[in-house]
Amino acid sequence: MAEVLVLVDHVDGEVKKVTYELLTAARAIGEPSAVVVGAPGTAAKVNQALAGYGAAKVYVAESENAANQLVTPEVDVLAALVGQASPAAVLVAATPKGKEVAGRLAIRTGSGLLVDAVDVAADASVTQSIFGGAFTVKAKAGTGVPVISVRPGGVEAVAAEGAATEQALEVPATDAAKVVTITSREPLKGGDRPELTEASIVVSGGRGVGSAESFEVVEKLADTLGAAVGASRAAVDSGYYPHQFQVGQTGKTVSPQLYIALGISGAIQHRAGMQTSKTIIAVNKDTEAPIFEIADFGVVGDLFKVAPQLTDEVAKRK
Ligand code: FAD
Repeated sequence: MAEVLVLVDHVDGEVKKVTYELLTAARAIGEPSAVVVGAPGTAAKVNQALAGYGAAKVYVAESENAANQLVTPEVDVLAALVGQASPAAVLVAATPKGKEVAGRLAIRTGSGLLVDAVDVAADASVTQSIFGGAFTVKAKAGTGVPVISVRPGGVEAVAAEGAATEQALEVPATDAAKVVTITSREPLKGGDRPELTEASIVVSGGRGVGSAESFEVVEKLADTLGAAVGASRAAVDSGYYPHQFQVGQTGKTVSPQLYIALGISGAIQHRAGMQTSKTIIAVNKDTEAPIFEIADFGVVGDLFKVAPQLTDEVAKRK
């Protein structure tokens, strides 16, 4: 069966959910081989989890440099593997880092690049969301080993048994002057909430929330649902919520099971980051708000009345 390389997305050995989605998508094409790039000891932490989603093989590239350099080790390792293993495709997460890896890898290997896939077919063709989400197209790489970035939440992760046989790899030494080195890491503010791109429920607030203080209404509903908090660009630009929580074309792309939009009009640039959510609920006092065009459930009303009622009702049913 054809081998499909999957770059494991992890933070210090904690596997991100999107990795399981990538392994699931890879199984549509062939046999997934996970590629772990990180500090010594990373593979030992992640191996069992990867086996649970059908990884037949785990290529292990561990070194201190691999943990402290941005992007270059992943590209070097994947490029070497593309040469050695002749895989049917390479899958990476369509995160800021994953997209950077995918672009560089495609150039390095002379391969076609397919970005923002929301589905992958047996012939390594993909369904993509393009032009800020304005179109959904099917596409196939015309040259080389297809490099595919898959949108987090685009494919549902399904467990499957895999042997996860480890195979050690050298991390190629790169000239230190040519790489970007991480000098420190700070966890982002977000408290105990799930990470925005990983969450199965996202509650977002827009300009309609009106102030930074009023975002408490959004946070309370999110916390009752165990959800992440998002924000529109207007809310971010107005200083209501930090930029790292912005959803949309110039923010993060999310595709949760449930997306709740509070006081968000539904501009095309916001939709680009959330319209592939499985179920969308919109609360807006304007019946004509464009968000209602894509909402599965729409509530015309004041978010300051609707959201607290919803919070109380969810809390009662817990
Ligand atoms: P508004 O459009 O002002 O809508 C506020 C909504 O709240 C209105 O529909 C109103 O009826 C409703 N409302 C007000 N009060 C209440 C209340 N009490 N109860 C219920 N409803 C209420 N936007 C993004 O979100 N993400 C992006 O990444 C992004 N990238 C962009 C990139 C470019 C190049 C450009 C040009 C724009 C981008 N934008 C982005 C901005 C986008 O065009 C919109 O301006 C923005 O999404 C609007 O945010 P909003 O819906 O919160 O605000």
